[in-house]
Amino acid sequence: MSFTSFHLAKSILSQVEVLKYTHPTPIQRRAIPIVLQGKDVMGLAQTGTGKTAAFVLPILQQLLQGPRNTIRALIIAPTRELVEQTNAFITIFGKQTGLRSLAVYGGINSYNQIKTLRKGVEIVVACPGRMIDHLQHHVIDLKHLEILVLDEADRMFDMGFLPDIKKILHFIPAKRQTLLFSATMPESIQKLAYSVLRDPCLIEIEYTTPLKSITHFLFPVEQHLKTSLLLKILENTASGPILIFTRTKHRAKNLGENLKRNGFSAIALQGNLSQNKRKAALNGFRDGSFQILVATDIAARGIDVSNITHVINYDIPDTPDAYTHRTGRTGRAGNKGEAFTFVTQDDLKIVHTLERHVGVELKCRTVNNFNYNAERKPDTNRYSRGYQTQSRRKKRVKAS
Ligand code: AMP
Repeated sequence: MSFTSFHLAKSILSQVEVLKYTHPTPIQRRAIPIVLQGKDVMGLAQTGTGKTAAFVLPILQQLLQGPRNTIRALIIAPTRELVEQTNAFITIFGKQTGLRSLAVYGGINSYNQIKTLRKGVEIVVACPGRMIDHLQHHVIDLKHLEILVLDEADRMFDMGFLPDIKKILHFIPAKRQTLLFSATMPESIQKLAYSVLRDPCLIEIEYTTPLKSITHFLFPVEQHLKTSLLLKILENTASGPILIFTRTKHRAKNLGENLKRNGFSAIALQGNLSQNKRKAALNGFRDGSFQILVATDIAARGIDVSNITHVINYDIPDTPDAYTHRTGRTGRAGNKGEAFTFVTQDDLKIVHTLERHVGVELKCRTVNNFNYNAERKPDTNRYSRGYQTQSRRKKRVKAS
């Protein structure tokens, strides 16, 4: 199947060719025809499956006909990075359509956003908070909205955006097409879906399992040895782009600085940075100026770098969903990836939860010539035995 079978306008199809997409991904194959028919969609798919183009392409096609200078499509997403990324896709795919879009989010001055809105746009991609500000100040008018997209709904729910979304819905006509995308389907999202969608088509793309192109390894380690273990792994790891996750902003900042001191080309991306610095960090990672990006979870959703070779969980994520989202940054667009997760004694409970939910074997690995007994002299043999007896499945401890 090729993109021509969707009968998209030439102006859109030519831009698909610019991005060198030859075949639609499974979610694109299923979602594009349904969205083109004007039906509501409940899409269960993670980032990395081609979900953005699955809604952007048919939306552009639908907006080709009809009025200009009025907002006709609104895409709401949880993070600034994801908003920027989706807006960038719209700009590329819509380049020859004359349709204009704007990214709306907080943390930057509203002046330019308001100026662009006054000039007229047909599509807005927004984070909920700044969107509400604009609505309350009557800067944005959604009376003529035709299509609403709620992207990464589960994440928006986790981040406490549900009340904001409900407020935004008051400003939107009830007669509209709604597309809701979520990587998981907890009860909260089912309720939201029930209240915003009308007779939706359900499209489900491997939403609970991580991508098959990723191999997963656990690295048992004492908390105080994490940084030296990481340095050792980085020394032995091929030089592709590497994304490292920490639990807190503070840890991301410190680890980034530590890696730099040790001669690695690293940068930290965390919520305390100004919007410009966040952008610079992400762009620097994307264009290869930095090989390593150290990030907090907030970055997991917005990073679209197709050739990341390794994701390293310096701190284990709290939930299986977070694990899936983090590790889904590698093994994308036909590439293979490796996901390494550091585990301490305290993490064993979450490891079992991850294995149950993630559905893949998390093999243990140790690093040759690494002194697991350094400083506080932790007994790694005892640790490994303890881990094995607690594990429901027998683990193979592999020497790397
Ligand atoms: P997404 O899930 O929308 O974040 O997309 C993940 C990555 O896959 C992005 O880098 C897209 O450019 C890429 N992508 C999306 N659709 C296709 C396609 N049909 N062929 C090749 N790459 C694609």
